[in-house]
Amino acid sequence: MTNDQKRALEQLTGEGVRFHYPMHRLTTYKVGGPVEAFWEAGDLGTLKKVIRYLSTAGIPYGVLGRGSNLLVKDNGIDGVMILLNGSLAVIDHNPGETHVWAGGGVHLTDLMNWCRQHGLSGLEFLAGIPGTVGGAVAMNAGAFGQEINERIETLQFVLPGGTAVEMNRSELKFSYRRLHMEEGRLVTKASFSLNRDTPEAVSAKMSGFFKTRKRTQPLEYPSAGSVFKNPPGAPFSTPGAGRLIENAGLKGKRIGGAEVSEKHANFIVNKGGATAKDILSLMDLVRLEVKRAAGIDLEPEIRVMGK
Ligand SMILES: Cc1cc2nc3c(=O)[nH]c(=O)nc-3n(C[C@H](O)[C@H](O)[C@H](O)COP(=O)(O)OP(=O)(O)OC[C@H]3O[C@@H](n4cnc5c(N)ncnc54)[C@H](O)[C@@H]3O)c2cc1C
Repeated sequence: MTNDQKRALEQLTGEGVRFHYPMHRLTTYKVGGPVEAFWEAGDLGTLKKVIRYLSTAGIPYGVLGRGSNLLVKDNGIDGVMILLNGSLAVIDHNPGETHVWAGGGVHLTDLMNWCRQHGLSGLEFLAGIPGTVGGAVAMNAGAFGQEINERIETLQFVLPGGTAVEMNRSELKFSYRRLHMEEGRLVTKASFSLNRDTPEAVSAKMSGFFKTRKRTQPLEYPSAGSVFKNPPGAPFSTPGAGRLIENAGLKGKRIGGAEVSEKHANFIVNKGGATAKDILSLMDLVRLEVKRAAGIDLEPEIRVMGK
């Protein structure tokens, strides 16, 4: 970005933009070099203006939630990273109704607490996923045989040109860990269709899912969750990614500060001081060894960004 572009961005955002911001502060892996500019958008109007400016000026931009599915490379990111906050991170609901609107920046933990308090059921499987609504929708987050898309009614997007549109579920296409959409689109709001239940029952389901996570996942170390997608047919005709990695004898394998978890082989954890390069090298090794042992190409689930 040129100095003029930086000044224009400061004017548009009311100086809320920070330059040369370390991405390791924004990702659950706690790795990643600096992004040229980081901005927390607080309202839809300003967000639309900024997206329009960035698109017209040809400045690359991306959006992140809690960075819980992201691996940012050590040399950082060109352009602008945007986080949704303020009125883009609120939950809205008409009393008596069973659907809820949540801003793209809402943390899933806050949505879980809200569902528990209001006795609304259907999203409990997300308990313990450390993301935002926007990130979970973009990734079609799922667990325990359920996916977030099953509960989505409508999404609001900001398009690369800076306009906001709403799309119904029938117009959306989801697949395993993916919402199909053009690059540069931001999910700013989602509405979910839920079922009425008692707060106690909703809470009990969430606790059950959370306990299973605690037992099976290495939550004590920084990670981005499952690194690889399960291959097609898993776990019936083919083992899941974790089992394939374990069968290849890779549990505990270490490069620098990155290690294939002993607890869950599809997690590569940061045991302290890992760089993105350590994690990427270990991912390459895992793919090579699984290909050699089982003849299967593992595809990354985590999104890699940067240079
Ligand atoms: C311990 C642990 C357990 C996990 N367990 C699960 C699990 O069970 N199931 C599962 O599916 N995932 C799991 N994950 C991965 C991750 O938490 C989810 O994918 C989560 O939904 C990502 O949300 P986020 O807000 O952190 O997205 P980020 O990691 O910040 O971003 C992920 C992708 O979404 C895009 N994105 C983010 N926000 C928006 C937006 N508003 N509009 C458009 N695109 C956007 C980003 O550009 C990026 O491409 C786990 C991660 C950890 C660390």
